[in-house]
Amino acid sequence: MREPLIATIGLGANLGDAQQAVQEAMQTIAAFDYCQLHAASPLYRSAPVDSSGPDYFNAVLQISTRLNAPDLLARLHQLERGAGRERPYRNAPRTLDLDILLYGAARIDSPTLTVPHPRMRQRAFVLRPLADIAPALVSAQELQAVSEQVIEKI
Ligand code: ATP
Ligand code: CA
Ligand code: CA
Repeated sequence: MREPLIATIGLGANLGDAQQAVQEAMQTIAAFDYCQLHAASPLYRSAPVDSSGPDYFNAVLQISTRLNAPDLLARLHQLERGAGRERPYRNAPRTLDLDILLYGAARIDSPTLTVPHPRMRQRAFVLRPLADIAPALVSAQELQAVSEQVIEKI
């Protein structure tokens, strides 16, 4: 088991009771073995970006964790499956999506895991909640660049 570091996780859902799915997932992740809650963003509601269907509920969570990154991803996938996640096609609407945005300062490029998440800085639904809990990680210019995307804090 490694030294603890801060992992940043992006949550999203737009099918079923999406708001509850995101809120429950935040609590479940914070209670994972070898993990402690570090910070949880407010909940946001956003119009689909590169996707379709109902509005999304989104949040960003930071945990202090001793899990290595592949093990953390496996736990997140397990949670997605438990929420009934299906992947009929790329960017399909979903009951729960859990992405590893950052894993400490690590850079990871494996067939199943790329960290930092390669698209996180193009997405208001990531940058806005991330800026709430870790303002040093998001610049004003980055927020400005996604300011056209429709999103509200709820
Ligand atoms: P996007 O990656 O653009 O947000 P998505 O979340 O809809 O799209 P998924 O279908 O949920 O994509 O994931 C596809 C695969 O991406 C996963 O099976 C996983 O192995 C891989 N993946 C690579 N990097 C990451 C990461 N940082 N966090 C989560 N999954 C990742
Ligand atoms: Ca995603
Ligand atoms: Ca995903």
